[in-house]
Amino acid sequence: MTIPAESIHGLDAADLLARQRSAFLKEAPPSLAERKARLARLRATVLAWRNEVKEAISADFGHRSRHETDIMETAGVVQSIDYLTRNLSRFMKAEHRHVGFVYRSGHARVEYQPKGVVGVMAPWNYPFSLTFIPLATALAAGNRVMLKPSELTPRTSEVIQRMLADTFPADEVAVVLGGPEVGAAFSNLPFDHLLFTGSTQVGRKVMKAASENLVPVTLELGGKSPAIVARGHVDERTMGSIVFGKLANAGQTCVAPDYALVHEDDLQAFVAQFDAMVARTYPEGPTSKDYTSIVSDRHYARLVGLVDEARRRGARVIEAGVRPGSAANRVRTLAPTLVVGASDECAVMQEEIFGPILPVRTYRTMDEVIDYVNARPRPLALYYFGNEDDACETLLKRTTSGNTGINNTLLHVAQDDLPFGGVGPSGMGAYHGIEGFRAMSHAKGVFVQGRWNLPSLLRAPFGKVADLALKFTLGANRPRRR
Ligand code: NAD
Repeated sequence: MTIPAESIHGLDAADLLARQRSAFLKEAPPSLAERKARLARLRATVLAWRNEVKEAISADFGHRSRHETDIMETAGVVQSIDYLTRNLSRFMKAEHRHVGFVYRSGHARVEYQPKGVVGVMAPWNYPFSLTFIPLATALAAGNRVMLKPSELTPRTSEVIQRMLADTFPADEVAVVLGGPEVGAAFSNLPFDHLLFTGSTQVGRKVMKAASENLVPVTLELGGKSPAIVARGHVDERTMGSIVFGKLANAGQTCVAPDYALVHEDDLQAFVAQFDAMVARTYPEGPTSKDYTSIVSDRHYARLVGLVDEARRRGARVIEAGVRPGSAANRVRTLAPTLVVGASDECAVMQEEIFGPILPVRTYRTMDEVIDYVNARPRPLALYYFGNEDDACETLLKRTTSGNTGINNTLLHVAQDDLPFGGVGPSGMGAYHGIEGFRAMSHAKGVFVQGRWNLPSLLRAPFGKVADLALKFTLGANRPRRR
């Protein structure tokens, strides 16, 4: 199988994998010091190329604020590298495990070994951090890494390729560029682990391709994450968090609150306060320097279509915040939009939105909310705004989501020590935290025989000793009562 043209150093992806694997097998697994040195090199590169990355991302999106890229991507990458560096020696330590009585003279441990070559496939929405955090995790676990960034952010992908070629030899880290056909070929390669971030739809194809080679996968997918506002909790804190989570990167965030469930008595207040909070956050409306454009014409048309269809089906559509003046000439900006009363048949209530549109549904009881969430695919995130009371605990116990945020949105992703991943259609496996290190390591169980070898008494030819040992382990042989 070959991957055409755009691959680096004149090698196709299959050749790169062969080179990385042979280098991995030739050299001993990297020591703690070597791994830390790789992480330090990666950190320095991130900071050195920070401006190029920001410019490339803004150009790819049409517009994205440099603050947003620094806060939502660069800071996350640096924080994650620092977290891994700080905790690496603890993560790498072998773990002692319990041994049964008969084996007591020996001891058991788990050693975390690098898997070998890890493939990383990334989406376009946070094209930098969703490539670099998996990369840092894979390097920390002692692996070599091949990356396939998104074709929808071509300038960023190209910068990523250059900066990494500048930092690591191709047999340590390599970047393969290309579109869906390259993605399909990439997911067919016999990696030792494959981490895919993207849509549920493509995730299915990736898992199918990986299964041909029995490559273990981590799938970081999407879905519709609800924001549930307890009765009486439409206030500044709640609205600030929802507006932040929904409008950062213009809603093009996998863990953005997709829709809101609001008590029917609070609907009016919710609409009014959302509008006021948007106006405060983006004082120049959608052309504010801090408001991001939609990444492509196709996605823009898709989002406009979602709103139009909901309107046609009788939903109330409210464009929130300050309306742009006639000077507005920014590409693909979409006003923050509330959609109230969309029925379940509307696409906006079925598809992941991935844009600055917030459908709002009302409820009467928390039981209704739980039934609504549980009748749908398990979300990547679930947000609850209210007190940490019985209602909150019941909601948490009775619903299953990748992660949960209480009185905040998105911030669980910034907690380096928490696992990050979905469940069911929103994903499989996790990274960040020790879970990330372990996902990219092989947990090898090792049993060391002690000097006194009791189990050897249980070998043929069997006799009295075996009977005695069996009696001791299994108990006396009493007839079964009928
Ligand atoms: P996507 O699934 O369209 O593309 C992701 C990657 O898959 C790209 O690199 C693309 O080239 C590649 N690809 C496309 N077709 C392929 C195929 N047939 N076989 C193999 N690879 C293929 O996703 P996207 O539009 O780039 O990103 C948006 C989606 O990603 C949303 O659903 C969002 O929720 C999800 N997402 C999830 C997370 C997370 O951490 N869980 C983070 C960001 C985005």
